[in-house]
Amino acid sequence: MIVSFLLAGGIRGINPLHLTETGVSVDVPLKYITYYMVVLLLFLLTWLIGRRGACHAICWMSPFLVAGTWLGRKLRMPQFKVYSETEKCIACGKCTRDCPMSIDVEQEQKAGLVASFDCILCGNCVDVCPKDVLKIKASRH
Ligand code: SF4
Ligand code: SF4
Repeated sequence: MIVSFLLAGGIRGINPLHLTETGVSVDVPLKYITYYMVVLLLFLLTWLIGRRGACHAICWMSPFLVAGTWLGRKLRMPQFKVYSETEKCIACGKCTRDCPMSIDVEQEQKAGLVASFDCILCGNCVDVCPKDVLKIKASRH
């Protein structure tokens, strides 16, 4: 970002109103088509796959995040994860219903932790659990 900033000519080379002279960044009808196609794709993926469908299916960052997590686990580096005291679980299903990544948390926590690479550590499942089963901790497991 710094290099790009310098190559663009520094603060004088940046026009914060670029392509927004008319108030919006869409200035020709063709761009609306592109915009609504992207929005439609996001809706379709969510409808087909579940919450955050685009994160699961087309996010270009996801492979890097999964690879980093996988490598960290192999090297036994400390990582944050959702851990569970599974014996306290009453199988109410609230954690699964509130997970924005559509992870079956209730099922995963039976192994003592949520091992899914899709977990974004948002903490929703921890917050909604009525029995304080789930905790986010750093560990080498
Ligand atoms: S921390 Fe968030 S993403 Fe991870 S399992 Fe819990 S609710 Fe799902
Ligand atoms: S919210 Fe807590 S008690 Fe309910 S299923 Fe999930 S882990 Fe078990």
